[in-house]
Amino acid sequence: MLSNKNGRFGQFGGRFVPETLMSLLEDLEKVYFSLKKDKKFHAELDFYLKEFAGRPTNLYHAKRLSAYYKTLKIYLKREDLLHTGAHKINNTLGQILVAKRMGKARIIAETGAGQHGVATAAVAALFGLKCEVYMGEEDMKRQALNVYRMQLFGAKVIPVTSGSKTLKDAMNEAIRDWVTNVHNTFYLIGSVAGPHPYPTMVRDFQSVIGQEARAQFLKKEKSLPDYVLACVGGGSNAMGIFHAFYNDKKVKFIGVEAAGHGLNTQQHSASLHKGHLGVLHGSKSQVLQTSNGQIKLAYSIAAGLDYPGVGPEHSFYKESGRAQYVAVTDKEAVSALKLLSKVEGIIPAMESAHALSYLEKLAKKVKDKASVIVCLSGRGDKDMETIKNFI
Ligand SMILES: *Cc1c(COP(=O)(O)O)cnc(C)c1O
Repeated sequence: MLSNKNGRFGQFGGRFVPETLMSLLEDLEKVYFSLKKDKKFHAELDFYLKEFAGRPTNLYHAKRLSAYYKTLKIYLKREDLLHTGAHKINNTLGQILVAKRMGKARIIAETGAGQHGVATAAVAALFGLKCEVYMGEEDMKRQALNVYRMQLFGAKVIPVTSGSKTLKDAMNEAIRDWVTNVHNTFYLIGSVAGPHPYPTMVRDFQSVIGQEARAQFLKKEKSLPDYVLACVGGGSNAMGIFHAFYNDKKVKFIGVEAAGHGLNTQQHSASLHKGHLGVLHGSKSQVLQTSNGQIKLAYSIAAGLDYPGVGPEHSFYKESGRAQYVAVTDKEAVSALKLLSKVEGIIPAMESAHALSYLEKLAKKVKDKASVIVCLSGRGDKDMETIKNFI
């Protein structure tokens, strides 16, 4: 589903921002949609995706995992093999080239776990642009290694001490900075969230995942997969792999949210299960909020999933029934991480392990045999402490 002119996906999406940002977003929209048709822009992006990030990534037939589940033929889309360790680099490369075309000298971003901050700092270093990343003070403590990585790339990490000192507060600070410095600053958003045109632009940059996967699967299997599975935080890796299959109506999409300690506790980040219609980060979608509209703290063992909202296009996919959304707990995700490591020799990111974990239920649900592509959004190196300490 392409967003319509106002960046709406059904009733979701749009542009809910301070007046001062309106003309800038209109500019960005104009520039982006013209670059979308610009062959030179795509040639440059393709060059960096290949030479810097390591695309295309493999579509790997996980034979032993398939044998374990018996009823599933499982393929893994190996975004974990990309530079900086996850799919996020697809988007940061795309956006930094847009920023360059707009003549912006300074890049800002917010980051929770630090993964998006690292992918942003890396591309800012690549192009010699100034980069400042807002990060909650609490998150800086929890993710000290990523802070150090960003600093090595020459970025400045700005601690955010307001509110809960986590991602949602960092988001507020980044928007505040942007309002003040729009003339020279480009705000590089890390998922299919934010005001129009970000959800569409980020989806487009991530859709390389699905385009490759679809062609690779067709080549190997001479057919299309029955299922495509991905984890959903803000929703960019999921939208990136789903989008290319949108018109293949027989391909079923399953998005996996983080149920944390359980959907019936307060500690999860399942916005599509437990959220309500609201505005977060400049767009309308399902948001975890109190009855007064205060944003709740999201929780997941996978730091990249603990975002209290979800991209508007996912809310639309859910409402229209194009995708099904499920949720798995910390515990289930940890088991899935251990299983993949043991039977395939691949340690997935905790986030990606959520998608893998749902295979267990899917294997029991399918009649006969089914084929499935799982988006392995990132590698697990960053999660070793977390897994070691998990009881
Ligand atoms: C950030 C991250 C995610 C979650 O972000 P989406 O926008 O939902 O894709 C998932 N997997 C990994 C490895 C990440 O770093």
